[in-house]
Amino acid sequence: MLLGLIASLSDLGLFYCSSNAIHEANLIKFNPMLTFLATCISGGITTVIAMLFYWIRAYAGRHPNYVKVLLATGIALAIFAIHIVFESAITHKTELVSVASNQASRQLVSITIGLGMICLFMLLFIFTLFFEKHGKQLFEFSFFKKGQNSESQPQITLDSLTKLPNRKAFQDHLESASKRSTRAGSTFALAYIDLDHFKPVNDQFGHHVGDIVLKTVAERLNAAIRGCDFIARIGGDEFVAILEEIKTNEDISPIVQRILKSVKESFHVNNLNIEISCSVGVAIYPKDGDLEKLMVCADAAMYKAKENGKNQSKFYDSDIESASEQMLELQRDLCLALERNEFILKYQPKIDCKTQAPLGAEALIRWNHPIKGEILPKSFLPAAERFGLINEINDWIVDETCRMISHAKEQSGINLNVSINLSSHQFRNPNLVKDILKTIKFYDLDSENLTFEIKETSAIRNQEQFKLLLGKFNEAGIKVVLDDFGLHPISLAYLQDLNVNEIKLDKSFVSDINQDKSSRSLIDALIKLAHALDLHVVAEGVETEAQRDALVELGCDYMQGYLFSEPVQEVKLFALYKHLQSNQLQINFETSEQISTSEYKAIPA
Ligand code: C2E
Ligand code: CA
Ligand code: CA
Repeated sequence: MLLGLIASLSDLGLFYCSSNAIHEANLIKFNPMLTFLATCISGGITTVIAMLFYWIRAYAGRHPNYVKVLLATGIALAIFAIHIVFESAITHKTELVSVASNQASRQLVSITIGLGMICLFMLLFIFTLFFEKHGKQLFEFSFFKKGQNSESQPQITLDSLTKLPNRKAFQDHLESASKRSTRAGSTFALAYIDLDHFKPVNDQFGHHVGDIVLKTVAERLNAAIRGCDFIARIGGDEFVAILEEIKTNEDISPIVQRILKSVKESFHVNNLNIEISCSVGVAIYPKDGDLEKLMVCADAAMYKAKENGKNQSKFYDSDIESASEQMLELQRDLCLALERNEFILKYQPKIDCKTQAPLGAEALIRWNHPIKGEILPKSFLPAAERFGLINEINDWIVDETCRMISHAKEQSGINLNVSINLSSHQFRNPNLVKDILKTIKFYDLDSENLTFEIKETSAIRNQEQFKLLLGKFNEAGIKVVLDDFGLHPISLAYLQDLNVNEIKLDKSFVSDINQDKSSRSLIDALIKLAHALDLHVVAEGVETEAQRDALVELGCDYMQGYLFSEPVQEVKLFALYKHLQSNQLQINFETSEQISTSEYKAIPA
């Protein structure tokens, strides 16, 4: 509409100027009513032309070139018609026509009209070029955003940080591309681009630096693609490109190589030299899947590229296909599992090294799949994290654990402390500790009834977020344990800086304890250091008596493992707990000497 108004006013101006010389000479007269009508008609025609531009942009028919030629002819005829309408708005003074046909005036009129036409066509040309370059989204956003009521306001389709089209714009474009491709019998490629090692950049240097890197990545990706391609940012460090006008994989490879190379080049931000890379998964429409499946295919190919070592691309193929079908099935099943209450918790007791009395338990999730049977967490938790279901699952774990502790208190008079494992994805949940406290309160429990285990690797990789979360746990009086401790060379230095309550030695230390002298010395040093920092040490994966005895000798505080019990369900836990309590060693605390050596027999799960 706005374009129509501007164009009709400029038509009027153009016509008025071109006729002015004659008007000045009093050779013609403008009819105000007809002039107004002519301006309206001109506005209407130009609005229709502008709308046709939008329509042809999304046109996905078989003969786009014919339609363009038809449209161009239509525009030329419309301009001619506009001129005729304006002509009818003036009356010539017939007695002076001979003067009007004066050679000089006729030349002036022709030149003015000619120049006007050229200007009009140039304007249309510039409009078309601008439209082609910046796309529908930018054009809509910058030109039509203002002055529209909220109902008809177009959705903002640009990503605010990088100014690239966002997920919504990408989906619109993908739909148009698929229509074009289906009707023209052509193909296009979808490239899913995920940055490698970007999270540590955010964690180590802060979000400000991360944002600058993302903006630069967006510029580089934009420069790496061709004019007919489309690029969008669809998530934190995820981008997608739609590559049209391709026939074979050989047409796609050079573009993907340019993308990989452009991200691999160093980023210089605030005197820092930042090195990242990207992994690219490519799926082709319609060969690899329909519109709905295409994104899943490209995503699966990208994951394969990451698995293969990152900084590379991978085309979707039959191997990935079967893996991604399994993934899709898993995603569907996981969503249903929560609804159908298919998860269960098993609990593995934690034993005091000195007394061998049970001191609490660790909650470990299992999935009771209706067809596949019991599934271990390693086979479904990574997928739950990837599909964004982990927070919901964790809420269920916290609720179920608290319910069980409350039940243990009521039924058996046991006041349990249960450890719950947290994944690094949950660090980003700002309400995590608040929600945990709510559940504790709901079941009338104490913050001392729960402990949270966080893997040392996750804590190191997400230092900033981890410290923030740790602060919240400390404030709430909830204990935190660093799980699988000792696998990183920086573990020891790192410990000093953190306000955790316990460290849990990785299973590998326990299995090696009696292998050689140096393994034993390493565990000895770790235990001594932890004690010097006022931390308790838990050893997990204790399977043999020899391992248990060595750990007791080295002064380890607590133990877990199959030697004492496998993880068991709630129904067995209370009996097991009582059994362990009755089997604890009688210790003479004055001499620290064991005076009863009742043999412990583990209860099978
Ligand atoms: P983790 O936290 O290190 O848990 C210890 C794993 O060792 C458990 O495997 C446990 O069943 C197993 N285990 C216990 N005693 C022994 C032993 O004597 N020998 C050996 N070889 N293994 C033993 P599980 O249950 O398969 O869990 C594996 C991992 O899955 C856990 O490692 C934890 O990282 C994760 N996980 C388990 N449950 C949950 C959960 O509820 N939430 C989250 N976020 N992660 C969980
Ligand atoms: Ca654990
Ligand atoms: Ca562990």
